[in-house]
Amino acid sequence: MTFNLGSISSLPTHGEEKHVKVLVLGSGPAGLTAALYAARAELNPVVLTGMELGGQASLTHTIENYPGFPDGVGGSELGDLFQRQAERFGAKVEFDTANSVDLSQRPYKVVSDNAVYFAETLIVSTGARPNHLEVPGEVELTGKGVSYCATCDGWFFKDKQVVVVGGGDSALEEALFLTRFASKVTIIHRRDSFRAGKVLQTRALENPKVEIIWNTVVTEANGKEKLTSLKIKNLVTNDQKEFVTDGLFVFIGHTPNTQMFVGQLEMDDLGTIVSNKFMETNKPGIFVAGEVTDSHFRQVITSAGMGAAAAIQATHFLENEEISVK
Ligand code: NAP
Repeated sequence: MTFNLGSISSLPTHGEEKHVKVLVLGSGPAGLTAALYAARAELNPVVLTGMELGGQASLTHTIENYPGFPDGVGGSELGDLFQRQAERFGAKVEFDTANSVDLSQRPYKVVSDNAVYFAETLIVSTGARPNHLEVPGEVELTGKGVSYCATCDGWFFKDKQVVVVGGGDSALEEALFLTRFASKVTIIHRRDSFRAGKVLQTRALENPKVEIIWNTVVTEANGKEKLTSLKIKNLVTNDQKEFVTDGLFVFIGHTPNTQMFVGQLEMDDLGTIVSNKFMETNKPGIFVAGEVTDSHFRQVITSAGMGAAAAIQATHFLENEEISVK
């Protein structure tokens, strides 16, 4: 999900003003589960979807480890189901993007493309975005052979040769998915062992279409109209060579989408929003869920669980406030 940079001083004031009890930012598993729970507590939550409806999970071809789906479920299908379930209880899902926030006082102000929201409580579930290699040619060739999403772009590489960079679960899972289309998938990893789980490692090592180049990094992406080759460097021998390929898929971790909260919510060095076990941030009534606060588990089930917890806490927060006013 992509949220634009913003600062309090530049907050626009246009757009219809809306007052809500619970505003959820982000429509991945965390956000939509939070919306489901808040809706069932009759808090009429509003979800601002951001640019990627369903979040990163919706870009996953098949999710095999979400309980209740023994045969797996498509990522976008699961996102649709989450949304339908939340809407059934009255959640309002708006295809709209939050651009800037003012968290200096309650109700918290959130300016989106279409409106200005004043929220009694906020559930931040803006997710994370894929990291880039940051090598010459990568930006210029993105969409022309360089990709961060096998589900989105794999089909374009039918019978072609592709490279996957990374050694984690994402890299191996996506490399295996790409074997459906590509004639050969070369995984280039900077070390001599993977950090991915054993099941994926075994599947990758045993797949005849998968080749692995260890201890190696990509230092350049080359091509004019489209990617034609990479420059790669062996980190043990320092040997460099050109590697001819049609595609480069990069899966080297993620960065949380937290730019618009800088200076307003407490974060760690990586930009992950700091929260306690109650999903509370350093501001009263602002809760977090999913990859925006968790760079460790990064599972649909854990994000959904955090979404439920955040909404339960938001409900308690509003109830306690009502009691103290009475
Ligand atoms: P990750 O586990 O952090 O792995 C990132 C990989 O990229 C690592 O192998 C790392 O190398 C490599 N890398 C990082 N920066 C690099 C650079 N600049 N150049 C080259 N290589 C670089 O990220 P992930 O695979 O996205 O997974 C994140 C979390 O989500 C994990 O906890 C994972 O278990 C979970 N996940 C689970 C599933 C699943 O269960 N099916 C699927 C996807 C993700 P090093 O190994 O040398 O550090």
